[in-house]
Amino acid sequence: MLFKDIVGQTELKESLRRRIRSGDISHANMFVGPEGSGHFPLAMAFARYACCPNRTDDDSCGTCDVCQKFDSYQYADLHFTFPIYKKSERSVSAGFMSEWRELLSTGAYFDFEQWLAMLNAETKQLKMYVDEASEIVQQLSLKSYEGRYKIQVIWMPELLGNDVSNKLLKVIEEPPADTLFLMVGNSVDRVLGTIVSRTQIVHVNVIDDDDMVKVLMEKHGSNQEDANDIAHFVEGNYVKALRVMNDNGGQEAFLARFRDWMRSCYKRDAKQISVFAQEMGKGSREAQKQFLGYTLHFVRQCIVSNYGEVDLARFTREEQSFASKFAPFIHHKNVISITELLNEAFRDVERNANQRLVFMDLSLKMHQELHRKQ
Ligand SMILES: [Zn+2]
Repeated sequence: MLFKDIVGQTELKESLRRRIRSGDISHANMFVGPEGSGHFPLAMAFARYACCPNRTDDDSCGTCDVCQKFDSYQYADLHFTFPIYKKSERSVSAGFMSEWRELLSTGAYFDFEQWLAMLNAETKQLKMYVDEASEIVQQLSLKSYEGRYKIQVIWMPELLGNDVSNKLLKVIEEPPADTLFLMVGNSVDRVLGTIVSRTQIVHVNVIDDDDMVKVLMEKHGSNQEDANDIAHFVEGNYVKALRVMNDNGGQEAFLARFRDWMRSCYKRDAKQISVFAQEMGKGSREAQKQFLGYTLHFVRQCIVSNYGEVDLARFTREEQSFASKFAPFIHHKNVISITELLNEAFRDVERNANQRLVFMDLSLKMHQELHRKQ
């Protein structure tokens, strides 16, 4: 990953480059930002920039031996630790390296959902197990192969158990020479405070709409209107944008399904609701979660258009016409309960409850909410 391939984040990139050029690098850094903001690619570009012998003021050279190894994540001193499930007595990331490399081969922008899918582990709780700590300590105690930094990436440090965190405190506080810890996560809230306090936090914000539109047009060949629509919908999440782009009309299908569903909920059309629940129940869990996510987004945007500026609501042109009729049914008396219902359904789907019943139950409750008076 080169800095030039990062979407947006212009100022942050410059501040990261400046830190490396001036030699003012903390040995432990935590890149924190929402999914799809580019925290992982930024960490990778940062690591490469620290190691490339021919870097310019703007970027790594992209062609030297070091850069080529970084391209394929084969740089010998680049180590990855990430959440896994228990499959053998000794549970360490190294046991899942082929899946991890396969995920990386799809690009540096990915999210936790994709990792779960790659592991076929959608029903499992992933985390980092205690053996991981000794693995890291041992790896970092070795001499650098490449003669530069030894880089230890910890992806999703929020899933380091307390046992692992505690065992890592010492090496994070006093690492062997030329060690660079790069943690990459979505939130510091669930990371052990004593770990957080030993790292330099790099805050990564969502990607600006303008930058998103630019990349969609320049790199993905979108026209201006589609790019605006997608940027509007994904709210700064490039992973989500890639998903929408690869979805071939998936957004329109979501809208059509959502529109029909809301109409049957409003009318309490038992037959239609039952058909809907059955159809949803047949889909994959991933598809169900995405649809619930879409519904949540739509409801939130209704509130924005009702109580804020209509122009600020992130609706696509297709959504706009249904939204203008539907938005009045979402208001301050029901938005919180609707949000809770959707989140509850999301959790039920994750827990592997009977999905048809989840959507049946949700529909009947939505009926009540849609008829709630302001
Ligand atoms: Zn280079």
